[in-house]
Amino acid sequence: MPGSALNPNASVTVAQCLARAGELPHSDSARLDLELLLCDALDRDRAWLYTWPEKTLTVSQRERFEQTLMRRAAGEPLAHILGQREFWSLSLEVNASTLIPRPDTEVLVETTLTCLAEQADQPQRILDLGTGTGAVALALASERPGWAVQGVDCSTEAVALAQRNGARLGLTNTQFSVGDWFSAIAPSRRFHAIVANPPYIASDDPHLEQGDVRFEPRSALVADEAGLAALRHIAQAARSYLVPGGWLLLEHGWQQGAVVRQLLNELGYHSVATRRDYGDQERVTYGGFSGGAG
Ligand code: GLN
Repeated sequence: MPGSALNPNASVTVAQCLARAGELPHSDSARLDLELLLCDALDRDRAWLYTWPEKTLTVSQRERFEQTLMRRAAGEPLAHILGQREFWSLSLEVNASTLIPRPDTEVLVETTLTCLAEQADQPQRILDLGTGTGAVALALASERPGWAVQGVDCSTEAVALAQRNGARLGLTNTQFSVGDWFSAIAPSRRFHAIVANPPYIASDDPHLEQGDVRFEPRSALVADEAGLAALRHIAQAARSYLVPGGWLLLEHGWQQGAVVRQLLNELGYHSVATRRDYGDQERVTYGGFSGGAG
């Protein structure tokens, strides 16, 4: 019966809950959002929802569903409501102190694995700058148990979150610490790869007023120089922390590929190239380091 889901006394079925996509007009994944909110309220998986569409919700399940649906309708990211997001098949705890991991950032992980394909079984040292939830560092650590992956973030809350994620996933080959880019890295340290998904959005980008990004920390999104400041700083400084033969890999905005390639070429990196994301936009630019930091 239409509208019955809003009557506090009526029993509500799974199917009725799933018919409420119209209450999330601003979400581009309303149906999926409903399914995941319902899974959360019922503590079941998505397959269960399709097996038992006629099951009714208990009062507390219904309360949880109504509350979380209201939060989602107000624009709060699903990942914040659920406190969780999948990245690279890892389930990560997420909170408002960091960027929510994006599927496109998996390209940064893939490209790193490709650049270091011949070193897959050798003990490599990897540095992930601006690690946030720890997503990139943990994905690399999970793929390459023999590598030692260090994640750095300027937010103490983010570092605590990344440490919890690492501990929960049992990835003991990771280590997380607080620092402003390279500031806390000993000058004598050298890495086989330095990776980063830094802030790269220009402060006047209208995209910042839309969707999930409104709920994410500006410091993880926005950079000076039309979004290039952090990318430039990391690219310059990384030359002092890479082993000869090491790699720098940077995620960037979809319109920044050419300028980041130019930057890396000017700084003396070799084999500079860009990989596209799942939306076919330029997303990750990388270059090799021959030695001799300028
Ligand atoms: N790709 C993200 C977005 O456009 C931004 C991530 C970042 O700034 N590092 O929302």
